[in-house]
Amino acid sequence: MNLVDLHGRKINYLRLSVTDRCNLRCRYCMPGDGVGKLQHEDVLSYEELHAIARAAVSMGIEKIRVTGGEPLVRRDIVPFLAGLSSIPGLRQLVLTTNGVLLEGMADELREAGVQRLNVSLDSLDSARFCSITRSGDLSRVLAGIAAAERAGFPVKLNMVVMRGVNDQEIEEIASLAMDHPYSVRFIEYMPSSMEERWQSLVVPGEEILERLSRRFPLQPVGRNELAGPAKEYRIPGAAGSLGIITPVTGHFCGECNRIRVTSTGLARGCLFSGDGVDLKPFLAEGDQALLEGALRGIVAGKPGRHELSATSANHTPFAMSAIGG
Ligand code: SAM
Ligand code: SF4
Repeated sequence: MNLVDLHGRKINYLRLSVTDRCNLRCRYCMPGDGVGKLQHEDVLSYEELHAIARAAVSMGIEKIRVTGGEPLVRRDIVPFLAGLSSIPGLRQLVLTTNGVLLEGMADELREAGVQRLNVSLDSLDSARFCSITRSGDLSRVLAGIAAAERAGFPVKLNMVVMRGVNDQEIEEIASLAMDHPYSVRFIEYMPSSMEERWQSLVVPGEEILERLSRRFPLQPVGRNELAGPAKEYRIPGAAGSLGIITPVTGHFCGECNRIRVTSTGLARGCLFSGDGVDLKPFLAEGDQALLEGALRGIVAGKPGRHELSATSANHTPFAMSAIGG
């Protein structure tokens, strides 16, 4: 079944956040004292998250990304993922993680049916990594990435590029793709609730591409229909590939194929719009048709494009950890 929005875009991708909690405090994502912890009863149970996933897949969603907060800190995440992977019609189950707990979990995640991992990696310098994440131990993340590779996962590495913070490492992080089969992706920094002068931190995707092109002979790669928003590039002779994600300057809105559901059950059509539908009342009814109707409303209300740009002064403040990136 095809799910198409009012702008003719096929919607086949759900980002499902399972928690707003995290074992890191990345500066670009949440305040140092964390986000106001949700009450246990506000967070959807696994049964409720599963019901949303089933309804979404029955409507035409083919890919689910489990995200957070940090999904691996939620208890019993592995059996939950195994349940998701067995939903008939779901073609791709993928997970985004900060990698801190990955070393001990990579094998069981693979057995649970997760098909790919995206791991955040903003620096290869221990002190800088610790400063960006306000406590993170780089060696644990690197061990997690290595374990994921050994477990047979295709691995994507995500670097949020921030001018004057970690942009001096773009080329070094890119070179991880020379010897490893990683897809290394560079994400433009997006405004969050804490940054007033966020524009000065944005390194436009074009500039990132220019810098990478000076160092590597990049060849553009075509997109497949379940792809995310990255523009992908191959480097002849390299084991992996590079990608650039430009939520601020790139306006990939025309190709946006996704909807989002937060861990409290708020469904949204766009990261940057304040709209959203609370799915909890529909879950309480226990009627899949009602849930599908609510999700259809989100798809119908998906804006054609967001208004954020590297020069615009205003944006709706939010903590990325609450929405799932
Ligand atoms: N904890 C997991 C992690 O860090 O990968 C998953 C959740 S995190 C909110 C999902 C993604 O959002 C990560 O790749 C993170 O780098 C990205 N992200 C968070 N805040 C961002 C920001 N202000 N700009 C760009 N990307 C951001
Ligand atoms: Fe946690 Fe991920 Fe946000 Fe960092 S980006 S604070 S790891 S949720």
